[in-house]
Amino acid sequence: MKTKQHKVNVITLGCAKNIVDSENIVAQLQANKIDAEHEHSAMEPEVVIINTCGFIDKAKEESINTILDYADEKRQGNIEKLYVTGCLSQRYKDNLEEEIPEVDAFFGTMELPSLLQKFEADYKHELIGQRSLITPEHYAYLKISEGCNRTCSFCAIPLMRGKHISRTIESLVEEAKLLAAKGVRELMLIAQELTYYGLDIYKKRSLAELLEKLSEVDGIEWIRLHYAYPSKFPTDLFDVMAANDKICNYLDMPLQHANNDILKRMKRQITMEETMELIQHARNTVKDIAIRTTFMVGFPGETEAEFESLCAFVRKMEFERLGVFEYSHEENTSAHELVDDVPQEVKIERKARLMNIQNEISLRKNQKKIDQTFKVLIDRKEGDYFYGRTEYDSPEVDNEVLINAKEHFLRVGDFVKVKIEDAEAYDLFASPI
Ligand code: SF4
Repeated sequence: MKTKQHKVNVITLGCAKNIVDSENIVAQLQANKIDAEHEHSAMEPEVVIINTCGFIDKAKEESINTILDYADEKRQGNIEKLYVTGCLSQRYKDNLEEEIPEVDAFFGTMELPSLLQKFEADYKHELIGQRSLITPEHYAYLKISEGCNRTCSFCAIPLMRGKHISRTIESLVEEAKLLAAKGVRELMLIAQELTYYGLDIYKKRSLAELLEKLSEVDGIEWIRLHYAYPSKFPTDLFDVMAANDKICNYLDMPLQHANNDILKRMKRQITMEETMELIQHARNTVKDIAIRTTFMVGFPGETEAEFESLCAFVRKMEFERLGVFEYSHEENTSAHELVDDVPQEVKIERKARLMNIQNEISLRKNQKKIDQTFKVLIDRKEGDYFYGRTEYDSPEVDNEVLINAKEHFLRVGDFVKVKIEDAEAYDLFASPI
């Protein structure tokens, strides 16, 4: 089949790491003169590529349903070819090939060159760092490493993404320059395990050094950190954060649990006391730091008392941002050998309880911001409002600042100074000053 004239639509599911992978897929296809787009609703594609997620049950279900929808389209003759790539495909390739024969080929997370071959396209090494962005022009994700060397007992990510491989500081700075030249002003650094950065290639933790170099890139005004691991945390990072205005005073550090018995069973290599010390260190060094974390409820054997100790920890630590996952029993992880004995309805109820605690904390913290001024990056206009974010908020997951668009004219992608006038648990209302 001569696919070169065909229109290709790339559908992206899952996390920001998949967004970056899809941005690379589309850039490689376009560089090979193939008409490829991200989830283009007006496009009538002949070829569809689905970039899947295989992290937990819900994500797998969404990926499988999407594949089945497009398999249907193919059966009805609406598309000619269907390819599936990404984490789910990496993890369950053999089963999927058997179960969904409408898919023309499945690829793993490291098989972009083979995917391109289906389009008679070459993998262009010179394109590294040049991506077709899914995100708005003013911000982009920067994947600083792939894989993870940790062995958290519940986590299937190392099965899909392999061992930790850091990218070099030079290649990341180069990519940041290309992104800045396209208009990107905020970089979101992502990795499965940010704090491990450099240990493989430089034999030392090098995140602080990378941040210094990235902050020298003209045009980049904010650099944000996602997914740090608390054990053996390189605390020099907090000194760099405090001293360097371009590094957002923001840290996304999933803690998963606080109860020591559960942390041990999760193989997290840290205790509640050490975690508290680390958070205190962060708050002492970076006074206004916003810490985002995620917890997992319903881990095998989690008792009501253990869950209560997690609630007490959350009340005490008062995280600025918090998310909760229900435990998902993933095959080939070491936790799979334990009994998944917390009923689903209990997991759901514990998640709601923890989020209720956080709602109160978040509302209280937001109300303290009334009458204060903040620098806000305007992300979009929707209905009667412009939506922006402070340096303490990441897109999609955190608070937004709403500014009345009937009264004020602003430009998406601009930084604006605003005064907060009202606050809800997850939204702030402001006017420019
Ligand atoms: S550090 Fe994160 S990605 Fe790595 S094994 Fe643990 S939970 Fe999974």
